[in-house]
Amino acid sequence: MENRRILVTGGAGFLGSHLCERLIAAGHEVLCVDNFFTGQRKNIHHLLDHDNFELLRHDITFPLFVEVDEIYNLACPASPIHYQFDPVQTTKTSVLGAINMLGLAKRLKVKVFQASTSEVYGDPSVHPQPESYWGNVNPLGPRACYDEGKRCAETLFFDYHRQHRLKIKVVRIFNTYGPRMHARDGRVVSNFIVQALKGEPITIYGEGQQTRSFCYVDDLIGGFTSLMDSPDNIVGPINIGNPNEFTIRQLAEQVIDLTGSASKLVFEPLPADDPKQRRPDISAAESLLGWAPTVQLREGLLRTIAYFDETLGRPRRA
Ligand code: NAD
Ligand code: UDP
Ligand code: UDP
Repeated sequence: MENRRILVTGGAGFLGSHLCERLIAAGHEVLCVDNFFTGQRKNIHHLLDHDNFELLRHDITFPLFVEVDEIYNLACPASPIHYQFDPVQTTKTSVLGAINMLGLAKRLKVKVFQASTSEVYGDPSVHPQPESYWGNVNPLGPRACYDEGKRCAETLFFDYHRQHRLKIKVVRIFNTYGPRMHARDGRVVSNFIVQALKGEPITIYGEGQQTRSFCYVDDLIGGFTSLMDSPDNIVGPINIGNPNEFTIRQLAEQVIDLTGSASKLVFEPLPADDPKQRRPDISAAESLLGWAPTVQLREGLLRTIAYFDETLGRPRRA
């Protein structure tokens, strides 16, 4: 496929920086737009001197007038600590941000991709979750600014698609981990690895019997580009994630094992509305995109541990 000029909102974040890197490696030009709320310059530092990379500091809740061939909309704080810091801004980023990116795509007549989330399923009563499940979200709880913001963004994407014939691609991302996760954003994989490497107690919320299914970042980004490059009639929403499901306690034990840490497990209260189980049904991604994850949890954790070893300034392990 020919080289394109591609806008990535949230491009300085965890997933966005990996996407920018992948698109540049494929020969495209990337315009990275980010307000640096949770993004970090160090995530894209290695791209700043690249001829095909451009960075614009901008908040997508405000209109944006640029010229591009394709848009990936990833801007939004993603971890509970960050999205609950300023809940009103979180909803504005999802909803006004979506309206602005859809307006931009409409003016330019270009394809637009939305990073939605498994949180649209809330605390699911159907397991594993297929795309046809409407979800079980508390609209008033502390997670609602994120969950309902993302649900409304999906509504906007499908209404622009039906009303304005816009080409859309909506992905529902399940828990993803890997290098460039924030060390302090409270997500379980980064928390456990950092705690294990520092020899601090591993904080399990509740009894650790709740489950999640963890996807390695490289696999996820492959799913993004497969969906974006798929035929126009494939619009989603489509689940992208790794269906191998673990209890949080199993994750803690595996992290201790792989780091060789002497950390002990401690049990803390479960946060409000914490989903009890989560696992993607990825049959749509497999059949429509020919996509499936390939990196097993052990391998992905080892690569993530190596990243945190380095960022925490610790010696490399053998
Ligand atoms: P992240 O916090 O690392 O990245 C989000 C980026 O968006 C940051 O660089 C931040 O500065 C930027 N941003 C936030 N608000 C903005 C605004 N108003 N204008 C411009 N930039 C803004 O998070 P991430 O894990 O990389 O998540 C990226 C996307 O994927 C998000 O939309 C998130 O909801 C979605 N997602 C992530 C996961 C996951 O497991 N990481 C799971 C489901 C969905
Ligand atoms: N918009 C934008 N960049 C553009 C075109 C539109 O940011 O290149 C914004 C615009 O400011 C508007 C939103 O996108 O608030 C939705 O645009 P649309 O054309 O759908 O709606 P309208 O402008 O008619 O309200
Ligand atoms: N969790 C935990 N200890 C931590 C951080 C998180 O036990 O230090 C739990 C959390 O309660 C949830 C799961 O791990 O059940 C995943 O949490 P995360 O915030 O990473 O993702 P999300 O809840 O958004 O899926």
